[in-house]
Amino acid sequence: MPAPVDILKEARELLRDLTPLKTNCGRICGGACCQPDPEEEGENGMLLFPHEAELYQNEIEGFPFHLADDDTLYEGGKRLVCEGKCVREHRPLACRIFPLRMSVKADGHVEAEIDPRAWWICPLCEQGGLRAMSGAFVEAVKQAGEKLCEDPELRAALVREQQMIDETRHL
Ligand code: SF4
Ligand code: SF4
Repeated sequence: MPAPVDILKEARELLRDLTPLKTNCGRICGGACCQPDPEEEGENGMLLFPHEAELYQNEIEGFPFHLADDDTLYEGGKRLVCEGKCVREHRPLACRIFPLRMSVKADGHVEAEIDPRAWWICPLCEQGGLRAMSGAFVEAVKQAGEKLCEDPELRAALVREQQMIDETRHL
């Protein structure tokens, strides 16, 4: 059985070159998803999956960031807080799949769906949604979720996220 960090790296690799549109969608919105939140003084950040923080133990040239504690998905979890610019090959998985998420259904299968947290930020959600996005990107997000589900710890983080999203939907 591969180590969880290796499974995570494989999932990240699936989305190394793929983006929501075939063209640079950042031109549409000025890179809205990479802007630090002024109200929170840039402390928003992206949740890291289990073991992903191991990839951010050293400084990365051209990618200023720091890690913050965040137990949202699992105990001892971390969030990566960037300054709005990074090196593509080092982007967290959460950034690679945005504005989609890996949804684990009750029967265990995985689907790519629009992340409800993206509606406030990303214009693509309203401009055609999933159907207007690159099919290769949507498929890669689904495959990344299936890859994570090969490891119990990574799968548990996805299931926890799913539970949180489902609870919000039922409010
Ligand atoms: S907010 Fe949406 S459209 Fe803008 S850069 Fe991010 S993913 Fe692309
Ligand atoms: S790490 Fe990179 S892709 Fe992710 S929010 Fe920061 S600048 Fe954007």
